[in-house]
Amino acid sequence: MHMLSFDVEEHFQVAAFWSVARRREWNGLASRVENNSMKITELLSEHSTKATFFVLGWVAERHPELVKRLAQQGHEIASHGYGHELVHTQTPTEFRQDVRRSKRILEDLIGKPVAGYRAPSFSISSRTPWAIPVLIEEGYRYDSSIYNRFRGATETGVAGAGAYLIETEVGTIWEVSPSTMNACGLQLPVAGGGYFRLLPYAVSKMFLRSLERQGSQLVMYLHPWELDPEQPRMEGPLLSKVRHYLNLSKTEQRLRWLLRDFSFAPINQVVQHVRYIFEKQGDRSHATV
Ligand SMILES: [Zn+2]
Repeated sequence: MHMLSFDVEEHFQVAAFWSVARRREWNGLASRVENNSMKITELLSEHSTKATFFVLGWVAERHPELVKRLAQQGHEIASHGYGHELVHTQTPTEFRQDVRRSKRILEDLIGKPVAGYRAPSFSISSRTPWAIPVLIEEGYRYDSSIYNRFRGATETGVAGAGAYLIETEVGTIWEVSPSTMNACGLQLPVAGGGYFRLLPYAVSKMFLRSLERQGSQLVMYLHPWELDPEQPRMEGPLLSKVRHYLNLSKTEQRLRWLLRDFSFAPINQVVQHVRYIFEKQGDRSHATV
């Protein structure tokens, strides 16, 4: 089983447009996240597939019914933080408040614990060594924020995702990194977002088959706005506009093909399975699936 995830945020909340769409303007912009997320759930139900939805606390406050509906349909609700601040632009205290606030909002809505967290723009790195301990202390069981670009890269250049345990002084947490592939010497996160829209579907498919041959899994990520070619165009740097608006009309069909050709599960389901194997084996050094 591969893992499928969606970062639930508005089209105007992406980092590429922060210089123009200031936070204070968010409330005045037209919301499209609910309709776009519902479009995704229809596709998923056509293929009897459940996924993980990393929901922004800011979105959950304004669309509580969306969060409840996703949970009722059997999808996993996880946290994308509250305000979509990059982790390395926050102090440890601000980060703690952000992840605590979003977890509480989501748990109040769905009535059960939230296990997973994904940072905006995968912004946990060696610059933020305090972030993982904060997540553990705040009760998160897994994180999916770290591009570990060279971990597990094979001769074919494909780095499988897998789940691995991070041990810290305050406890342990599972890390589920997005998959990357070697392209022209760079490990690129081709499994999601802009890369999925940029590359022909045949390339994504080849990448997944390659992962499967080495017994590895994909962590796929998309955003609801990536299935919305009609979204209002924002002003911003040219490169940001190209990246954001490229091939939006192709995502839906490509996602259909992906769901037709491969099997996916929510991340927490896979993490629980890995944890079970790990505890059964008593292997303290390493655990992957
Ligand atoms: Zn995001």
